[in-house]
Amino acid sequence: MIDIERNLQTIKASLPKDVTLVAVSKTKPVSEIMKAYAAGQRVFGENKIQEMVQKWETMPKDISWHMIGHVQTNKVKYMAHFVDLIHAVDSLKLLKEIDKQAKKHERTINCLLQIKIAQEESKFGLKEEDAIALLDSDEVKKLTNVHIQGLMGMATFTNNQNQIKAEFEKIKAFFDDNTTKYPELKTLSIGMSGDYRIAIDCASTMVRIGSSIFGARN
Ligand SMILES: *Cc1c(COP(=O)(O)O)cnc(C)c1O
Repeated sequence: MIDIERNLQTIKASLPKDVTLVAVSKTKPVSEIMKAYAAGQRVFGENKIQEMVQKWETMPKDISWHMIGHVQTNKVKYMAHFVDLIHAVDSLKLLKEIDKQAKKHERTINCLLQIKIAQEESKFGLKEEDAIALLDSDEVKKLTNVHIQGLMGMATFTNNQNQIKAEFEKIKAFFDDNTTKYPELKTLSIGMSGDYRIAIDCASTMVRIGSSIFGARN
């Protein structure tokens, strides 16, 4: 039996106090997620918009919902009324759509720019210079209803701890290089079940942990 409450306690005890734990509940039923809620967890991450909407509809409204997966522009409208933080923003087009949909609901939607740090070809994300170009662009500065509050990265899916560490150190260095010029960058979202300890060593401020809390996904 998976003991969700105990798993949460163990993980929380190992995280520095100022690190935000996003409990990644994708594919898990509401009944399981409610066990984490009952244990005090209020931040949950999903990677499919439709699934997140369904969970938002049935679950308590004091939950902060994070979209951690790749977002298609035409689906932003389905989550714009409630999503708290979108982790994987990687284009001007997407930022503009988030801004437009946020305006309709008179809210501001928080975003992270996803930086490509993994060596794998398939991973989404911006090159560092493209992230800078976005942050500097007049079009982005004009957006009133999005708040870019940090960066997100996913390391290569590998057992090679040194490689993961090098990738996290790279995004951490990029983050540090830019927090003076862009003081709104406060969040560094790196670390999942398999690598969050390395991420914490690299000064992660937000970890996204699923299977170590809820058990393996099918
Ligand atoms: C699924 C997922 C996670 C959590 O993965 P675990 O290995 O189960 O902790 C974190 N981040 C993203 C972007 C994910 O899609």
